[in-house]
Amino acid sequence: MTSQTLKTFLEENLQELKDNGLYNEIDEVQGPNGAKIQIDGRELINLSSNNYLGFATDEALIARANEATETYGVGAGAVRTINGTQTIHRELEEKIAEFKGTEAAIALQSGFNSNMAAIPAIVGKNDAILSDELNHASIIDGCRLSGAKIIRVKHQDMDDLRQKAKEATESGQYEKIMYITDGVFSMDGNVANLPGVIEVAEEFDLITYVDDAHGSGVMGEGAGTVKHFGLQDKIDLQMGTLSKAIGVVGGYVAGTQELVDWLKVRGRPFLFSTSLTPGACAACIEAIDQLMTSTERHDKLWENGRYLKKGLKELGFNIGKSETPITPCIIGEEKLTQQFSKRLNEEGVYAKSIVFPTVPRGTGRVRNMPTAAHTKDMLDEALAVYEKVGKELHIID
Ligand SMILES: *Cc1c(COP(=O)(O)O)cnc(C)c1O
Repeated sequence: MTSQTLKTFLEENLQELKDNGLYNEIDEVQGPNGAKIQIDGRELINLSSNNYLGFATDEALIARANEATETYGVGAGAVRTINGTQTIHRELEEKIAEFKGTEAAIALQSGFNSNMAAIPAIVGKNDAILSDELNHASIIDGCRLSGAKIIRVKHQDMDDLRQKAKEATESGQYEKIMYITDGVFSMDGNVANLPGVIEVAEEFDLITYVDDAHGSGVMGEGAGTVKHFGLQDKIDLQMGTLSKAIGVVGGYVAGTQELVDWLKVRGRPFLFSTSLTPGACAACIEAIDQLMTSTERHDKLWENGRYLKKGLKELGFNIGKSETPITPCIIGEEKLTQQFSKRLNEEGVYAKSIVFPTVPRGTGRVRNMPTAAHTKDMLDEALAVYEKVGKELHIID
């Protein structure tokens, strides 16, 4: 006899989450995910998406997706290695490589899958990974899946990185050592110190891996954090997503031709999970084409980010140390943060609260994601709501 059935396990655990206020009720968006969204029949200013450039609802992307669906079908029909590689998949990969300034790229079904594919294909049980302590969940899972020794490095602390790289090297225990980091950290909006990373990586022959999910389309005039620092030839693996700034779905790893050849024979989600839909590939190609020919959306995103930050700061909010359009509004205490977000919602602004364990205890925040699709009027309206609710809850005077 086992002690629990599935039913008792689910009941007890769900109840525990609900009792502790940790059960997440998922809001349903009744329509497209644009600068304004409708939830429960109410229209809200949306400051919670990752749709940085507004591509998710772009007419040209929709047209390209429809056209490719007509040409290639709604599904790819197989995994990439059997016969699920269509011309549009090759075209997307060539486009990504051009965009990233690398020899080649491999496209996968999501950013999450890209980390699942690439990390275990590169390192294994005889290797070590130096991993920034604030790395994204998909990096953490990819690292675990690889079986490599995981060594946590203090957040963006280059002295700690050097020390740990030195210890790992001198131990003689590992065949390869890789350093992995987010390019932009999405909770605070800060940017990885890639020049500092390269210095250490060159000293200790580290493999370098940057997950630029929040940097692509945002940093480096759109091409990402690695490009921002001019390090395309130095970072070994540039991983990214097609679901945030690109506005569609999918993920990729860009690097040398040899790297991509290897990932195509050893990346398990590439080998055992059906490829991206043709419509998604075509929409991504259109988005990247637009990004490479015009910085208009990118510039608008930054302008809106600066405007929102300035407004919140002038109102007296603590907006942390973001170096990107990501604008956290740090409230502190968890309950108050949740109440603040709830009141913003009631007043017409959708900005989600992020609390422990996603961020350290006592640093609860409402995170604002302005996009290129927001107008000044929308941001002014949001700021007026922030002022009202901030005063009401005595967060600002
Ligand atoms: C969102 C995100 C991912 C996952 O990307 P998806 O394409 O949504 O699966 C991976 N890494 C980081 C750092 C992210 O922010």
